[in-house]
Amino acid sequence: MTEKKDNLKREKWSKFCPKCGKQTDEFFESMCKDCFKQGITLLVPERLVSVSVCPHCGGFFKGKERTSIEPAVETAVRKAIRKKYGPETPVEIAGLRVELAENKRSAHVSITVKAEISGVEIEETGEFTAALKRAICERCSRIAGGYYAAIVQIRAEVRIPTDEELALAENIAHASLGESDFVSKEQMLKEGLDIYVSSAEYGRRISRTRAWSRAAPTGGRFRR
Ligand SMILES: [Zn+2]
Ligand SMILES: [Zn+2]
Repeated sequence: MTEKKDNLKREKWSKFCPKCGKQTDEFFESMCKDCFKQGITLLVPERLVSVSVCPHCGGFFKGKERTSIEPAVETAVRKAIRKKYGPETPVEIAGLRVELAENKRSAHVSITVKAEISGVEIEETGEFTAALKRAICERCSRIAGGYYAAIVQIRAEVRIPTDEELALAENIAHASLGESDFVSKEQMLKEGLDIYVSSAEYGRRISRTRAWSRAAPTGGRFRR
């Protein structure tokens, strides 16, 4: 009976953190909370960002996708933490500042991130410089190569379009530009104007635009 009591007593008093020796009742992966927290690194800066910058248009890209540096950093941080600590790990970006170097070859990133790991909230602040690769984007390399996917033919019925109508056509083409669209060439012909465009979808957008209805006799015909 006495022996049992002693054992219970010893057990109650022998809960120590094996790492720092501190007495504790709360264990996280068999360590005290402080030691557990110390063992966690949320930010691994060198693997954070892989963004390229196009020297022609100055756009930022993640693969072929146009992006900006902030969301690319956020996504990379979330991904890295969840890869290390599980896909359901709650992650919050509590602060993010990005300063782009003047030559656009690197960006200085200051970030504060919070994550909950094994029920413990961890907050970490880090700073690092991310190198930005220089790569001509798909759009710019296509422009340089004179690429086009469709021709929008600006014609009037039984007459030649007026200068105003052609100017309107150019305005419409310009106003319909999406982020990755471009006009590769405009060719004046005696019967009208041919606009060479980067995608069939963009060409269709130009021909369908409602502004044509105001320019009564002129229309954009679309040819792939
Ligand atoms: Zn400890
Ligand atoms: Zn570009």
